[in-house]
Amino acid sequence: MLKSIEFSHYRSIVVLTGAGISVASGIRPFRGQGGLWNEINPLDYAHYSLLETNPEAIWGLDGSLRKQLRNAQPNAAHIKLAEFETQLSSDQQFTLITQNIDGLHHLAGSSNIIEIHGNVLWTRCSNQDCSLTPYSDSNSYDDLIPICQICASPLRPDIVLFGEQLPVKQEWLAKKALRDCDLFIAIGTSGTVSPASNFVRSADYAGARTILINLEPMEPRNPYFKEEYLGYAEELVPIMFDMSYK
Ligand SMILES: [Zn+2]
Repeated sequence: MLKSIEFSHYRSIVVLTGAGISVASGIRPFRGQGGLWNEINPLDYAHYSLLETNPEAIWGLDGSLRKQLRNAQPNAAHIKLAEFETQLSSDQQFTLITQNIDGLHHLAGSSNIIEIHGNVLWTRCSNQDCSLTPYSDSNSYDDLIPICQICASPLRPDIVLFGEQLPVKQEWLAKKALRDCDLFIAIGTSGTVSPASNFVRSADYAGARTILINLEPMEPRNPYFKEEYLGYAEELVPIMFDMSYK
């Protein structure tokens, strides 16, 4: 049974979103049912070592995602979260952590977003010592791999590839938000794999109320999530995040 959340009771709210929130926007998930990794091996398309050996494979996959995103729009769940953020009072903190690289929370108008896996619509240099500033870029590079004008290394999408650590700043910001949080809601993620499974453990340790909203039930059940609501994000989020819902 869907319970209302009296948001005014909470001072520091953290929402974590995963692929399930973007499915209704036409973005295919990587894992789980219908996931891309069921068909292609991520080690052939998304491992950081490919930057040296086969950057065409990385751009082949992420270029196609950029093309999908040209027509993708935020759905009711993204839009509700953006609206919700503006309705909180000035003494309430709101942090939106997303595992998604599609940038749809930005497009929906959310402000305080931590993209822990980066954003595929940004490009940066593959050379960590290069001074090139990452930039917004929708080019899909179908024919030619882009090359850095400063150091001549291949450019890459600004996302976390397999075998890479989470970006230090984003991880630090996420941990800081979780340390103080009193309400943690994960949406569209299984809740059983990292980083979602670690984040809920931190939130529980901080004493937060912990809620999972997902289409599939947890398997195995993660005991740190105390409440679980099953359904489509674009249907449940607009109801649950409605301040007037009772
Ligand atoms: Zn460079």
